[in-house]
Amino acid sequence: MPQLIILAVLCIVFAAVALWVSQRMRADSGVPDGDVVYDDAGSWYEVSKPLFSKRLMLTGKPDYVVRAENGSLIPVEFKSSKAPIQPYDGHVLQLAAYCALVESHFGKRPSHGIIRYENKSFNIDYTPHLEDELLAVLEEMRFDLEEEDVARNHEAWQRCKGCGFKEVCGDSLL
Ligand code: SF4
Repeated sequence: MPQLIILAVLCIVFAAVALWVSQRMRADSGVPDGDVVYDDAGSWYEVSKPLFSKRLMLTGKPDYVVRAENGSLIPVEFKSSKAPIQPYDGHVLQLAAYCALVESHFGKRPSHGIIRYENKSFNIDYTPHLEDELLAVLEEMRFDLEEEDVARNHEAWQRCKGCGFKEVCGDSLL
């Protein structure tokens, strides 16, 4: 009988430690509390389909979408680099696109999303102003797609290094 009691106590301690470790790992990963309702890798037997918005003719795969305890949906985007002082504009627009896709797919507008850099997270409010900026950029991109010659809009050689058009691009920084 005492062995049974010791075993039961050990099981409780083990379960408590496992719970603490998983909560700790999740907190470190930057994923907020709540249920993960979408992740871009999917499960081991099913690859997640990209989210799609017919209204915006836009598709994409956020790293995660979490349903917080209050029911709100939060897209989370991971970046492998160290955090800048403020998140890069391109990253904010990418997150805004995911907020728009989450709204289309789940029928619920996210109040904000999260950009998680290696060492820091930023909460980004999905405001009507940010949505307007996103719509303007999408329109500009569609316009540029019709053009034969589009000027480079950045000064980052790293982007050119990873670009599939660098061998033929007259604007390359390499
Ligand atoms: S190589 Fe040209 S197309 Fe590619 S990122 Fe650089 S400027 Fe843009």
